[in-house]
Amino acid sequence: MKHFDVIVVGGGHAGCEAALTSARAGAKTALVTLSFETIGVMSCNPAIGGLGKGHLVREIDALDGVMGRAADAAGIQFRLLNRKKGPAVQGPRAQADRQLYRAFIQNAVTEQTKLDVIVGEAADLIQPNARVEGLKLSDGSEIRAHSVILTTGTFLRGVVHIGDKSTPGGRLGEKPSVAMADRLAGYDLPLGRLKTGTPPRLNGATIDWSGLEMQPGDDDPSLFSFMSKGTTTPQISCGITHTNAQTHDIIRENLERSAMYGGHIDGVGPRYCPSIEDKIVRFADKDSHQIFLEPEGLNDQTIYPNGISTSLPIDVQEDYVRSIAGLENVEILQPGYAIEYDYVDPRALRSTLELRDVPGLYLAGQINGTTGYEEAAAQGLVAGVNAASAAIGQDAPTFDRRNSYIGVMIDDLTTRGVTEPYRMFTSRAEFRLSLRADNADQRLTKQGRDFGLVSDERWDMYSHKLNAIEKLQSELTDIQLSARQIAETGVKLSKDGPKRSAIDAMSLNGFDKPNLAAIIDTVPEAPVEIWQQVKNDAIYAHYIARQDKDIAAMARDEAVVIPSDFSFEGIAGLSTEMTQKLSKVQPENIAQASRIDGITPAALMLLVANIKNHSSKRAG
Ligand code: FAD
Repeated sequence: MKHFDVIVVGGGHAGCEAALTSARAGAKTALVTLSFETIGVMSCNPAIGGLGKGHLVREIDALDGVMGRAADAAGIQFRLLNRKKGPAVQGPRAQADRQLYRAFIQNAVTEQTKLDVIVGEAADLIQPNARVEGLKLSDGSEIRAHSVILTTGTFLRGVVHIGDKSTPGGRLGEKPSVAMADRLAGYDLPLGRLKTGTPPRLNGATIDWSGLEMQPGDDDPSLFSFMSKGTTTPQISCGITHTNAQTHDIIRENLERSAMYGGHIDGVGPRYCPSIEDKIVRFADKDSHQIFLEPEGLNDQTIYPNGISTSLPIDVQEDYVRSIAGLENVEILQPGYAIEYDYVDPRALRSTLELRDVPGLYLAGQINGTTGYEEAAAQGLVAGVNAASAAIGQDAPTFDRRNSYIGVMIDDLTTRGVTEPYRMFTSRAEFRLSLRADNADQRLTKQGRDFGLVSDERWDMYSHKLNAIEKLQSELTDIQLSARQIAETGVKLSKDGPKRSAIDAMSLNGFDKPNLAAIIDTVPEAPVEIWQQVKNDAIYAHYIARQDKDIAAMARDEAVVIPSDFSFEGIAGLSTEMTQKLSKVQPENIAQASRIDGITPAALMLLVANIKNHSSKRAG
């Protein structure tokens, strides 16, 4: 029988990142997946990143994960979203060539030392005692390991819906994972149903592009990986078209035939990524919706029409799509569909993503109620780090709301749970001024290096960059400028104001290297990206100093750990409702308890007092 430290089930975005992370950390890892060819497949839109999501990709990259490098290698159009706003809320996004993306991931998996791919269906868990100790495949073979990570995406009891036709499936044309779903159901875990949808795929050769607006990418692409130097693939433009009154009429007239509105689906869908049926119903006053026609690859005629996901029958899909400008004669290559699947309420997980009641079993990705490649990959990394850490006995890096969007997501999931598929937004992070996409490496690469995740090449590059930043900051700190000098370069500032250092001046709107060059003869030498980073850090320095008080308060609350054997039952003064909520979430510390809906400051004080009592009794 084969033995590993960690087994990862699923070759999607969560699974690949989990397996690569675990192996990079030095754990002997197996990736078990239904087929090698579908490793790294993008189930829905051929794009990575966006607002909040782009931050996650940069953080994954800062820890030497694969997603950012794959997106850069496969990127055929890069756009920095919110470019006109401050760096804290800008989000890098890339449209990817599906084949190139998948090939990059498959290559990374194949090349990774300590990682074996096993093709098969995970059907059962080996659990002789309390702890999960391995996996049974549907062919009867067994694999043993210290821990198992499940990343089965939309496959658990997946059902594909097109109109009134419902077919079991993990994705269109792929079998669902039923045996493993049954196994999980046996654990008495809090399970639920969610749904998501995808649009029809179109044949680009049958689209009339002549009258359509075209949108190119950015002239200076913002890449994801701190290692990438520039784009390596030709860049393309996307087409833009719109739905119209006729499209809306067709959809309205056929609403009852949609799987969603015909009552065939119970699962809750993503509010932020509505189907075209949802848009017509929810935004009834709008007479048009924008559609981006995104090529799926350089050598692929398939077009992904972003904005019209649907579960209407195929004949209605054909009618409404052909009512749209440019698509009058379009051929549909694959119909749009909705998929409904099981998920596990993530409040059943520890912040390590291990199930609280099933030691040795970790969950990551869509199975935890999230949606999106980036959210899945980031959870994969967390589960990979923690499962490897448990196997090799080395302290894992910690992800919390103060150091990363990854930490924000894990805390949101495990503390608050989900009511709809969870996706990342910058608004979810209270410390977003310091959690920027541009400084993800400064926040996480050292932790990753200490755990053995970060390659020598990346570490050397990062160390050089950090030295250059610190050198430039120090040189700018030594340069004193009068308010008059600064104002005369065109910056809005009272000329009678106090003197300030050049690093302070960099925090002013409109002050940058050229302004300094207009004042002094010898401007410190540094590459353009180092100037940019120093400028970004300077812009937020004052805000971050103010934010530090809140960060320190959260750190204090996080330090009050709630022992795992602490019972929330019978605490005098705590209402039954609060007791139930705390018992369900089982917060790991007071900061986490404070974020549970309805837990009051008075309840927190009671908790702290009772925890002290509990600890002193144990000590005595
Ligand atoms: P997946 O990428 O689904 O990977 C699951 C993996 O597990 C697969 O490799 C599968 O082969 C493997 N597997 C499953 N069961 C077993 C088993 N028993 N044994 C071995 N291997 C197994 N996201 C968005 O952000 N926006 C959208 O609009 C959107 N729409 C979507 C529409 C559809 C139809 C689908 C299917 C997904 C959509 N998604 C969307 C979600 C996005 O695809 C997922 O969030 C992301 O792929 C989740 O990654 P994952 O790693 O959790 O799972």
